[in-house]
Amino acid sequence: MFNRKSVKNLIWMTFVLALFLPISAFGAVHDLVIYHTNDVHGYVFEARDGEGRLTNIGYDRLKAIVDADPTPRKLLLDAGDVLHGQSFTTAKRGELPAILLSLVGYDAIATGNHEFGYGQERLLELADKYRLNFLSANVVKIAEGEPESYILPPYLVRSWGDLTVGIFGLSTPETRTSTDPRNLVGLEIKDPVEAGINMVSRLKSLGADIIIAVTHIGSEPYCIPSSLEIAEKVPGIDVIIDGHSHSIITEEIKRGDGSAALVASAGSSFRNLGKVMVDRNEDGGFSFSAITLPASSPEIEQVEPDPAMNAAMTALKTEFDKEMDVVIMNAPFDLDGARERVRSSSTNLGRIICAASIEATGADAALLNSGSVRDSIPAGEVTKGELLSVLPFGNYVYLIEITGDDLLAALNHGLSVTGSGAFPQFWGMEAVVRTEGEGFAIESLTVGGKALDSNDTYKLAINDFLHSGGDGYGMFTKYDYREFATLEEAFRNFVTTQDAAALGAVSDTQVLIIAD
Ligand SMILES: [Zn+2]
Repeated sequence: MFNRKSVKNLIWMTFVLALFLPISAFGAVHDLVIYHTNDVHGYVFEARDGEGRLTNIGYDRLKAIVDADPTPRKLLLDAGDVLHGQSFTTAKRGELPAILLSLVGYDAIATGNHEFGYGQERLLELADKYRLNFLSANVVKIAEGEPESYILPPYLVRSWGDLTVGIFGLSTPETRTSTDPRNLVGLEIKDPVEAGINMVSRLKSLGADIIIAVTHIGSEPYCIPSSLEIAEKVPGIDVIIDGHSHSIITEEIKRGDGSAALVASAGSSFRNLGKVMVDRNEDGGFSFSAITLPASSPEIEQVEPDPAMNAAMTALKTEFDKEMDVVIMNAPFDLDGARERVRSSSTNLGRIICAASIEATGADAALLNSGSVRDSIPAGEVTKGELLSVLPFGNYVYLIEITGDDLLAALNHGLSVTGSGAFPQFWGMEAVVRTEGEGFAIESLTVGGKALDSNDTYKLAINDFLHSGGDGYGMFTKYDYREFATLEEAFRNFVTTQDAAALGAVSDTQVLIIAD
């Protein structure tokens, strides 16, 4: 046991522990154990790699692990971004993951930015219908002439005889820019530190012996403030279970007054399970220790999934598959996403996905790496599943304001080599090019019908993969962004609401003109 020690490289540490500690060492009885997940984003089913090793844990195995733990006082917490992401989540607007959260028996869930992905009313509806304790002490409703009010419960209190635990939730201020603004109408995201201080005094007055913050805040430098700063600036918090930055951490933060808080976060996509162990000291205080268990560790992999939970998940998967068979549009013509063409030319499907991103964001232009496009759609009836197979990755549409110089550099980079996933599909722009080497060089570029001005700025729709510098598009990483729907949602909204003439206009218009 590494009591109250700061441990950063938990994967390594877990590996060592897994090698040298008998499995029973994880079955010790504590005063309280907290199991935690975050940023699951729809990865609810178990998955294995090519060698058969478990890579994603699965909720059915989670249920078995929590149930088998001999500690009587247990909490299961999720630090947010659980209702939105993979198509399993978006298929029924959050309903399928919501059902699973309630069946596994989560005690509390931080309200992540993506929880607002279907609008605030839908979040409240799902929380209510499935009795899910989404918490947030810093998302408030603002209405003229009315006092500020929480939209979700800010905290909850759990008591077991001589132990009372207070849990409160915090949401990232980035929610302001990381969901479609229409989802946040009438809401304000308050300062998490101030909200935390209020919650600690409230929970102390309610007799909490231990205070846990379940936060969708993140611990990376771009998270302002980060969960580590909150731990430092809010005395009284004992444990922060965090999400948002997809980090794997268990770190003790010491404060000036000698007190400390443990911050723990378990990566993303349910590849790890976090566990915090709480033990009462002889002096009446508590010690906290933490471990992150990757899917491939024996104490996870050797657990048989809970059969009832497994059956429920299979039933929901069947429901999901049925949903994917629903016909949602009639394609007026073939939409070309064939790898051999989409990676070397502008195709009508590439242009339509870009037009959909513009429709979703109000951008001047859109650019998509053609590696995102995985399938074609033949003319005729199209199912939800067929649309999904075009854009299966769950990437999000991002809007940035980019200089003309960088926009030109981005297109030049993408066009310079054909055949790779970096090759750009675009709309809202027209490029006249000549062949050069293995690709094209730009002779002239217009945006919205006007010649590109290198000193001007343009609203450009891209996606999260490109914004992280994927496919060599490093020029995007420095820009602040606003996040919208997933690419697949934007595409689906567009093709199911535009008529055949509008789709035909995009399909028939060339934007990549080869001059030689
Ligand atoms: Zn998030």
